[in-house]
Amino acid sequence: MSDKFKLKFNFQQLAHGNLELTGKVPASAFDIEDEELILYGDVEYALTIYSVSGGATMTGNVSVNLRCSCQLCLKKINLPIEIKDIYHFYEKDKKDEFDLIPDIREDILIALPLSYLCKRGCKGLCFICGSNLNLTDCDCKRTSAFYNNDAWKELNRLKTKKNKSEIKHGCSKKKKI
Ligand SMILES: [Zn+2]
Ligand SMILES: [Zn+2]
Repeated sequence: MSDKFKLKFNFQQLAHGNLELTGKVPASAFDIEDEELILYGDVEYALTIYSVSGGATMTGNVSVNLRCSCQLCLKKINLPIEIKDIYHFYEKDKKDEFDLIPDIREDILIALPLSYLCKRGCKGLCFICGSNLNLTDCDCKRTSAFYNNDAWKELNRLKTKKNKSEIKHGCSKKKKI
């Protein structure tokens, strides 16, 4: 993590009341990047730090910009995320000065979505020809042997046959597929 962008507070700053911290930090300060997503632009924060018994708490909101690929059609998407009501406690006995970046980083990681889709109901890519089915309608469903109705009929016929033979051997309680 870069040393250049520290977002610090110390307990002396709280001597005259709450400390309001608003501003931006470059996303690179948070070091969040993997093959699937990157954090880009600035991370904006609006935080309040106030004294409480035994230490101080930090509360506030952070907004970040995420760039990732749709998991179905691979289109690049930008995803702004607002992280509200973050909350951390800093014990006074431990240190006099704290860097808030590691804690905010944790909040960002927790807020990352589990799946990224370009839109609700994205049709994804055809897994035979690779066409983006949001943009075009390929013929694979009609022409491919995989999608061919007769093939499915044949499979169904085999399945029925199997179920019947199971019943014959006294396995009728077995869950049907
Ligand atoms: Zn998509
Ligand atoms: Zn296709």
